[in-house]
Amino acid sequence: MKLILLGPPGAGKGTQAAMLVEQFGIPQISTGDMLRAAVREKSTMGLKAKECMDAGALVPDEVVVGIVRERLQQEDCRAGFILDGFPRTVPQADALKKVLAELGKELDSVISLEVDTDALVERLTGRRTCGVCGKGYHLRFDPPREDGLCRECGGVLIQRDDDQEATIRTRMDVYHEQTVPLEDYYRQQGLLCRVDGMQEIATVHQRIVSVLQAG
Ligand code: ADP
Ligand code: ADP
Ligand code: ZN
Repeated sequence: MKLILLGPPGAGKGTQAAMLVEQFGIPQISTGDMLRAAVREKSTMGLKAKECMDAGALVPDEVVVGIVRERLQQEDCRAGFILDGFPRTVPQADALKKVLAELGKELDSVISLEVDTDALVERLTGRRTCGVCGKGYHLRFDPPREDGLCRECGGVLIQRDDDQEATIRTRMDVYHEQTVPLEDYYRQQGLLCRVDGMQEIATVHQRIVSVLQAG
């Protein structure tokens, strides 16, 4: 299964991708996670990416396309993959098409998670991530252990630098300008499946699975 999870910041792409990894045993390819790993390693690319990310802007297309091209060639992507947070611009979508054609692969489906702006802001301000295992939480909607630590590994939770209200607003604007056109792009290719992302996490998961099984 070769999927894209499309949706604004905070829509639940990472949360749903992790559940699909469990269910289908195919890898999650999150450009955000890969960029944050590069930032931690302090590579030249990571340091440049951090400036864009902290400002709420997109990292240049050629950087993310390069990362994804390399990742898709790895052995564990043979049976399928879940792209989370990529593509985010029309040039990235065009580049993805080329990469997949070179690999003899085709997308099965683009799941578009739809969530109101107010809910997005609430989700992003309450988002926390385990600094050890990377598991995602929400202070209200998917709370950690009572002592505030990770349920899986007991790690300390951290808040992302870009999950501050001012940066969140910029990311929403960037999403509307640069990423929303991808809805039409994939609709025209008959790949777009809209899913109501306002439901509870488990319900959204069930709907995605039904959409995939119907397709
Ligand atoms: P969210 O899921 O909250 O939207 P991500 O973790 O996907 O956040 O992305 C965080 C930041 O990483 C983005 O604001 C952007 O700066 C950068 N980024 C991630 N994916 C891409 C991409 N496909 N193209 C350009 N920049 C990206
Ligand atoms: P994205 O990857 O699209 O930016 P995340 O999966 O990181 O979004 O989710 C953003 C925040 O919202 C996280 O704190 C997550 O726990 C929470 N969340 C995800 N899905 C839902 C949902 N259906 N209802 C309520 N909160 C959710
Ligand atoms: Zn953990």
